Amino acid sequence: MIHATVFDTKPYDREALEGASAGSDIGWRFMDCRLTAETAHAAQGSQAVCTFVNDRPDRPCLEALAKLGVKHIALRSAGFNSIDLAAAKELGLAVTRVPAYSPYAVAEHAVALLLALNRKIPRANNRVHDLNFSLNGLVGFDLHGKTAGIVGTGKIGRITAGILRGFGMRVLAFDPFPAPGWADEHGVEYSDLRTIARECEVISLHTPLTPETHHIVRAETLALLKPGAILINVSRGALIETKALIEALKSGRLGGVALDVYEEEEGVFFEDLSGQILQDDDLARLLTFPNVLITAHQAFLTHEALGEIARVTVTNIDAFANGRPFLPETALT
Ligand code: NAD
Repeated sequence: MIHATVFDTKPYDREALEGASAGSDIGWRFMDCRLTAETAHAAQGSQAVCTFVNDRPDRPCLEALAKLGVKHIALRSAGFNSIDLAAAKELGLAVTRVPAYSPYAVAEHAVALLLALNRKIPRANNRVHDLNFSLNGLVGFDLHGKTAGIVGTGKIGRITAGILRGFGMRVLAFDPFPAPGWADEHGVEYSDLRTIARECEVISLHTPLTPETHHIVRAETLALLKPGAILINVSRGALIETKALIEALKSGRLGGVALDVYEEEEGVFFEDLSGQILQDDDLARLLTFPNVLITAHQAFLTHEALGEIARVTVTNIDAFANGRPFLPETALT
């Protein structure tokens, strides 16, 4: 029997992991709490630990896990900015992730946010349910013929670009590792960040969070944007400097901002805090703008993505415990 402790478990995680491991000899321990140095002891007796984006496997936490005899950390996410990989390597811990579970899920959510924000669907829906059938203040703009900027043309950025091309948008893109063949085939033009900031009516961020991309959107970038531009971030919260974003929103220059991720989302997103006092003043301020749309890191949340995350996680936990190699491109250490 292989023992694996799953942190930050939600009902949909449990259902997917139990489904994918039916017939295997993995014994799960499902924990509601997030993994930190303080909660690591819950993994006592497990060879594998499974974490998500807001767990905190930093050095002290990994040291605690290694002491307990944990050998494998299976991230059930694509992004791996949460884990101290250098510490994991030093401690001899194997780390895996799920590099591509459904880039379509995330790209489609980015576009859903764009359409909902531009056409003011949440406000319109609220009004209609209040029997207010007035259209005042609900004017959007045609995406057709406008220019979109895609920052990061990896798996998700390319699918988003393709969908926006389908709307008849001109698409500019920036990536330090461009894919000219793909761009030619899809009518996408590579450009630089300043040009994208100046020329686009819509900008969507699709880069991982790294020291280079931290606050890639900050006061200087926001000052370059076209009046009325829409900014979408479904990647990682810290790509955008929140305080600068709030100032730009207060100035009234931005058309709108749609976020599926937030710089300080840890401990807030994925939780039901209704009835509690929100302690994060920046998030509270963001929630007051009529042109800000926020979802709580749900871009990945489709049946297909959950199934694939569970399949890769279960396969890797089982492989490691039985001395077989990990699935290709999933190993980080
Ligand atoms: P990917 O690795 O396929 O693509 C990332 C791209 O970003 C690469 O082409 C890379 O060259 C580019 N990049 C790196 N540094 C850059 C920079 N400074 N400027 C511009 N581009 C840069 O990754 P992906 O599968 O497309 O995922 C992108 C990100 O989306 C992930 O890292 C993760 O943080 C986020 N994500 C969010 C959710 C969600 O539910 N909200 C789900 C999955 C992934």
